[in-house]
Formats: sequence, C-alpha cells, structure tokens
Amino acid sequence: MQRISSGDLHACYKIGALSISSLRDGYVDMPPTRLRQPGNKVFADNLPRQVRLVDGNLRLSVNAFAIDDASDITLIDTGTSNAWHPTMGSLPQALREANIAADGVRTIAFTHTHLDHIHGLILPDGQDAFPQLSRLLVPKEELDMFRGEARLQRFHERAEALVAGQRIGANIEAVAAHGHEVGHTCFRITSEGETVLVWGDIVHVPSIQFEHPEITWEFDADQEQARESRLRIMAWTADNKYYIAGAHLDSPGVGRIRRSGAAFQFDPL
Ligand SMILES: [Zn+2]
Repeated sequence: MQRISSGDLHACYKIGALSISSLRDGYVDMPPTRLRQPGNKVFADNLPRQVRLVDGNLRLSVNAFAIDDASDITLIDTGTSNAWHPTMGSLPQALREANIAADGVRTIAFTHTHLDHIHGLILPDGQDAFPQLSRLLVPKEELDMFRGEARLQRFHERAEALVAGQRIGANIEAVAAHGHEVGHTCFRITSEGETVLVWGDIVHVPSIQFEHPEITWEFDADQEQARESRLRIMAWTADNKYYIAGAHLDSPGVGRIRRSGAAFQFDPL
C-alpha cells in the first residue's frame, strides 16, 4: 500500500487496483476515566506514561474512509456533521481536499450507529451531503437504533440491513466484530493480493489499547465482547499482515499491526 497524496485533512493510498482515502472529520476530547479495566473498573488512576493528555483529556481522532474502485466510491462512516462537538464535522472539507466529489459517493456503509459515524449524511445546513446516494448499509442489529435518530429521519426507510460476510461490490466484505456496539462491523478490502481492514472502533485510545488490548471503553455496549473482538481482530490482522484503518487512530490512522509479546504494536504507514 502506497501513499498517493496527503494534506491536513486526508491521506490517499493505492491498494491493488483501488484507492482508499482517510478523511479527517476532526477530534473529540474525552476524560481518561472512560478507560476501563476488566471488571469495568476505572483505569485513570494508573495511566501508563506514554498516554498523552491534552488539558487532562484523551484526544481521539475521528476518521472516515472512502474506497474508490473506479466505478463507484464507497464511504465507510460519514463523520459527525453538526450533531456533536464543533471539533468535528470537517468531512466535507476533507473530501474536497482529497478531490472526491460528494456526488460520486453512491454507497455508504456504517461500522456502527454512534453519533460520530452517521450524522455526516446531512450537512449542517440541512442538505443531503451525498445527493447521488443509492445504497445505505447499516448493521442489521442496529437498524432500529439508526431509525431512532430523528435528525436522520429521511434516511430511515432507505437503510438496508448489512450482515456479516456480505459483500459490497467485488472488493469489500463485512466482518462482524460486535461488542463496542451490538452490530459493530469491520470491512475487509482486498485487491491484487493486498488487504486493508477498515476496523471502525476496535481501538479508541491507540496510546494504550495496542499495549493493553484488555482495556475497554466506557461506551462499549458489551465490555467483555468488545475485549474479545479487539483481541481476535488484532491477532487476525497481525498474523495475516493486513493493513488496518481505524476510525479513532491518530489521523490518518492507517498502518500495520504486529505482535509484541502478549500484546500488539501499531506501525503507522
Ligand atoms: Zn466512534
């Protein structure tokens, strides 16, 4: 995988015959008390030294990813728009910087239905962000949650259920990694022998969760299942030398992962 272009809000890579762009929606600051040890105990008291805080908070990047196969552009997650903190909502600018026309995005798939992944369907002025959207895929287990978001009402009936193993076009396959949310899904993208896994929220705090993959996040719907999914997905991507692309890895959030003792290490690309 090679970098083709980059800027403040994007980085674009060639993967086989495809390209994948990391698009920066922004960042969100969260207190370290959201980190949890097994047993759902707060981890903040004994944070390892390498964990960086900004004014006492963890700073999480918020990234979405666009895959261009020359006939369609598939967007995985859409950022936050104006639905949460104003430190997010840069996805439209990131698309422009990456030279991706919003009109060219016809397929959107969500890793899960949290605020920072779905609200970019609608621009802050109320217009559709992707006027030519023809396919909207939502993990089956989270369709009802998606349909509970009043701001996205016009999309409720258009949303299709996405199931594990389902293919989106020739190169993208949905992989279940439930736990962070009931339908949390990763997307495996393969072309000409190269593979990248767009893994959504497998990691929230990269400075700690590669070294301590047992650490969970307060917002994980099922702490135990989220831990199991992270360990399974990390082992799988490390052993297969897949590239990974993460929604909350430091922007652009693309690289490889390898085993390091009982834990893992992330090598950004
Ligand atoms: Zn998230």
